Amino acid sequence: MPGPQLKKRRAVIVGGSMSGLFTAAFLRQAGWDADVYERSGVELVGRGAGITTHPELLDALEKSGAGTRNLGIEVPKRIAIDRQGRITGERPLRQILTSWDRLQSLLRATIDPAHYHLGWAFERVEQNGSGVRVYFNNGRVENADILVGGDGVRSTVRGEVAPELQPSYAGYYIWRGAPNEADLAPKTLKDIFPYFVFYLPPRQEVITYPISGFNEDLRPGHRRYNFIWYRVADAETLRDMNVDQNGTRHEFSVPPPLIRKDLIAQMHADARDIMPEVMLDCVMKIRQPFITPIYDFTAPRIVFGRVAMAGDAAANARPHMGFGVAKAGGDAEALARALGNHDDIGRALAAYNAERQPIGNTIVMHSRKLGTHMGVNLKTDEDRRMHALLQSDEAMMDWIAVPNFLDAYR
Ligand SMILES: Cc1cc2nc3c(=O)[nH]c(=O)nc-3n(C[C@H](O)[C@H](O)[C@H](O)COP(=O)(O)OP(=O)(O)OC[C@H]3O[C@@H](n4cnc5c(N)ncnc54)[C@H](O)[C@@H]3O)c2cc1C
Repeated sequence: MPGPQLKKRRAVIVGGSMSGLFTAAFLRQAGWDADVYERSGVELVGRGAGITTHPELLDALEKSGAGTRNLGIEVPKRIAIDRQGRITGERPLRQILTSWDRLQSLLRATIDPAHYHLGWAFERVEQNGSGVRVYFNNGRVENADILVGGDGVRSTVRGEVAPELQPSYAGYYIWRGAPNEADLAPKTLKDIFPYFVFYLPPRQEVITYPISGFNEDLRPGHRRYNFIWYRVADAETLRDMNVDQNGTRHEFSVPPPLIRKDLIAQMHADARDIMPEVMLDCVMKIRQPFITPIYDFTAPRIVFGRVAMAGDAAANARPHMGFGVAKAGGDAEALARALGNHDDIGRALAAYNAERQPIGNTIVMHSRKLGTHMGVNLKTDEDRRMHALLQSDEAMMDWIAVPNFLDAYR
């Protein structure tokens, strides 16, 4: 049991998105001081679109104090459609679809603005066994008992403490966007808008569902339709796609407004060739498409001395389960619990590592399993078996983004 502490303990948290905010909320509950430092100079809005929810996410939101009010839109079922737009299968499954913006604003409300610092970019950390000294841009320095890296799949914190650990490209990417409900054709609104929908041409995956509109608006007529289209591209093709409208090459992805017009035109042409009318309607109504390359990241450990990684920085799964934010919440809760249960910070971090590293690994491995649908890098018999299984619409509805998938690994 923890003994009396003379001085309140302090965490510096890098990254002001899901992991950073969850971690600050849970650490404060455990009696810690926690400050969040975010590189962006402006509030994080409009960064992502749809987020599938899971019981674990709802639980973490409640426990963190963020709550789940006006979380999103509940769909009654999933359907799969074919090239002609005919329903090929359906599954009753109630699921709440939320948006990244809604989660960000619920979590943001849990933190005193004095402890949330925009425009601070982490640069490096020194540690001496009993604490950390954290250096930011503009020469600013903060001291703390621990540093939490909640700075995403390309974590700079992790780059400092374990530069050898790098994400690897999965061999496919996503075109995504969220057309406004008000722009969609009546047939699209009637046939697919109310549902979680699958359209599965060979080696591609289109998934759509309704989410809130601008300013988290949930009113009918004001919502959006989340559209995700997975497509295969080898590393060389991706490198070419990472050259922007001005001819500048980006290492990981091109900021949406700079995506080349020829790529968008080709994407529209491909959509005309393969999409059912209702899906094509969505594609053509996306005002600003995004390209998101898919990466795997998992690490043999997530604690490095007094530095703990959380969320995507600790393990990044392909988005097929829609579980990334739930994992961020689970990491944060486990870290705070471990620090609350152990006086000795080193032992607490070891307990956190022992609990969450295997879970992160399992989630990444499960996402790779679901990714075999795309037919890329099928290396083992099990990969080929899963690939064959997931060629059916029915199997995809049973496996993709379903609740409680972790139960199979317990
Ligand atoms: C296409 C797609 C669909 C997805 N769908 C779902 C879904 O349906 N459900 C779900 O739960 N999850 C989903 N995810 C995953 C989810 O978005 C992530 O798991 C989640 O955002 C991870 O949160 P995070 O805080 O760990 O990292 P991030 O959200 O990446 O945040 C990292 C933060 O760190 C900041 N940062 C980076 N470097 C520094 C630095 N040096 N100094 C200070 N700050 C820094 C960044 O600016 C950023 O704000 C999806 C992801 C993708 C790509």
